[in-house]
Amino acid sequence: MFSKSLKLHVNGVSHNIRFFEPYPFVVNSSAGKNLVDVDNNKYTDYWMGHWSLILGHGPKKVKQYVIKQIEKSWMYGTVNEQTIKLSEAISKAVPVAEKIRYVTSGTEATMYAVRLARSVTGRKIIAKIDGGWHGYTSDLLKSVNWPFKESESTGIINEEKVISIPYNDLANSLKILKQYAKNLAGVIVEPVLGGGGCIPATNDYLKGIQEFIHKNKSLFILDEIVTGFRFRYGCLYHTMKLDPDIVTLGKIVGGGMAIGVICGKKEIMEHADTTGKKKSERSYVGGGTFSANPASMTSGYETLNHLKSKRSIYEKINSLGEFARDEIRKAFDGKVVVTGKGSLFMTHFPKDNIHEITNSEQAAKCDSECLQRYHFKLIAHDGIFFLPGKLGAISDAHDKEDLRKMVLASEEFDC
Ligand code: PMP
Repeated sequence: MFSKSLKLHVNGVSHNIRFFEPYPFVVNSSAGKNLVDVDNNKYTDYWMGHWSLILGHGPKKVKQYVIKQIEKSWMYGTVNEQTIKLSEAISKAVPVAEKIRYVTSGTEATMYAVRLARSVTGRKIIAKIDGGWHGYTSDLLKSVNWPFKESESTGIINEEKVISIPYNDLANSLKILKQYAKNLAGVIVEPVLGGGGCIPATNDYLKGIQEFIHKNKSLFILDEIVTGFRFRYGCLYHTMKLDPDIVTLGKIVGGGMAIGVICGKKEIMEHADTTGKKKSERSYVGGGTFSANPASMTSGYETLNHLKSKRSIYEKINSLGEFARDEIRKAFDGKVVVTGKGSLFMTHFPKDNIHEITNSEQAAKCDSECLQRYHFKLIAHDGIFFLPGKLGAISDAHDKEDLRKMVLASEEFDC
C-alpha cells in the first residue's frame, strides 16, 4: 500500500514529518486511543493527530454533534452560528482574544500574525526562536533545524527579515534583539517548544522578552497552537501572567478538524478591518475557502464544551504526563532526559555531555538515531505509536495501564 502511495505522493506522504524509515504504516481507522492500520494492527497512539486530539480519536461527546452538523451541512462559505459559538467560548477562556479570525491551519495563522505585526508597527524584522516551529509559512521557515544557520529551503526570499534568538537564554536573546530594535516588528515564541523538542520556556525568559518587546513598541506574539487548551481550559500565557498582543491557536480548538486561529487585542486585530481602512493602512489578513466551516467550528466548540464541563480531564492527563516522565526516566536508569509539561512528554538520549535540555540545540545534539530506533521498536513490537522522533501526547482516552505498558516496553529497549 505504501509503494502505491510513493508513486502518487512526494515521499509517499502529505506532510514531511509523516515519513519514517523503513516506511510508515497506512492507517485505515481510529477510535479512542487507537490507530488501526490496513493489516489490522492496532497501535496505542501517542501522536494523536499531530497532538490535536485531546479527547482521543472520535470521542462520542463530540462525534454526535459533528454528525448532526454534517447531516445539516459541512460547508456554508458564509457567516454562521457555529463560528459565533466557538468564538464566544474562546474569548471567554482566552481574554486576549478580543477579536478573532479563523483560517484552516496553524501555518496560515502564524503567517497572518507576522503580517499583522509588520503592518501595525510599520517595521519589517520578525524574531523567532532557534528551533521554533510555526508551520511552513515562508515568513517563518528559518532557524528550525540545528545548527540553525543554513536555509531550510530554497525558494524563500527575504530571509534576512527573520532573525532568531536562543530559547531560555535571556541575556543573549536581548543582545540580538537590541541590534535590530529599530526595525523589529515583533517576536513569535512557543511557550513550550513543540517540534523543537518539547521544552517549556521559563517564566523569566518569556517575561524578559515581553518586557523588551513592549518597551520597544514591537508586538509579542505567542504561538499557542500546541499549548492552547492543552494544560488547562484556556492558554498557558494566562498562568504565566504574560500579556501577549497576538495569540495563535489551532489543533485542540478545532477538535481534530482543520483550523487555525489568530486572536488578539482589539486595537491590533482591527488593523485587519477592511471596511474603514485604506489599503495603505490595513493589514490584509483574509481567510480562505474553508475558514470557519461549520464542521470544524462544531467539532472545536463541542471539544471545548466538554473540556469546560469536565475540568478533571486536565488533572487526569497532566498527572499521567508526570507519571510518564518519571517512569520513563526510571525505565532507562536515569540515562535519558525526559522533557515536557502536563500531558506532553518527549524522551531524549543524551550524548556529548548533555545533562539537561532547555533549548533545541541541546535536544538536537542528543542521539536522534537511537530515539528513532526506540520509537520504531515500540511500533513494530509493542503496538505503540509515537511519530518517530516526536513528542508524545496523552489524551483523555488513555489510562495509567497504557502508560505502564509503554514503560515496560521501554525497559526492554537498548540503543
Ligand atoms: N505552530 C506550532 C507551534 C505548531 O506546532 C504547528 C504544527 N505542529 C504549527 C504552528 C503549524 O500548524 P499546522 O500544521 O496546522 O499548519
